Amino acid sequence: MSDYEPDNIFARIIKGEIPCHKIFEDETTFAFMDIMPQSKGHALVIPKTGSRNLIDAKDAVLADLIVKTRRIARAILVATEADGFRIAQFNEPAAGQTVFHLHFHIIPVYEGIPLRPHGEQEADHGQLAALAEMIRAAL
Ligand code: AMP
Repeated sequence: MSDYEPDNIFARIIKGEIPCHKIFEDETTFAFMDIMPQSKGHALVIPKTGSRNLIDAKDAVLADLIVKTRRIARAILVATEADGFRIAQFNEPAAGQTVFHLHFHIIPVYEGIPLRPHGEQEADHGQLAALAEMIRAAL
């Protein structure tokens, strides 16, 4: 497995060098809308500490991250009225990982509506901004 590269796109989002539709930030964790959502409300939760994926992340980072992910998932369910959600997390290109900073996907699921493919179609940024605001309000 390659090393963590500190200049990856999510590290730059945390530093504010690249814009995002932010939904949550505290001392350890950052969350924002996925710009190529598989469903309405698809969000990403990342630790501020750099790790390439699940394999090299520290136990304490993971323990904190999953609790924050659940908290944000609850808010997404309230804001979107989704019927359920998936948590996804990919490790290495063979498994579909495209950004090499650990992240959990929260993917709301709506009965009868199939998920769009992973990372394929960019969403309307006005809609992403509106969703981020609704999720922030539900946190
Ligand atoms: P993965 O394939 O698990 O590494 O997921 C990377 C995810 O990041 C994909 O779902 C992309 O749609 C998403 N993504 C890539 N660039 C950005 C960005 N600048 N802002 C928000 N989401 C992004």
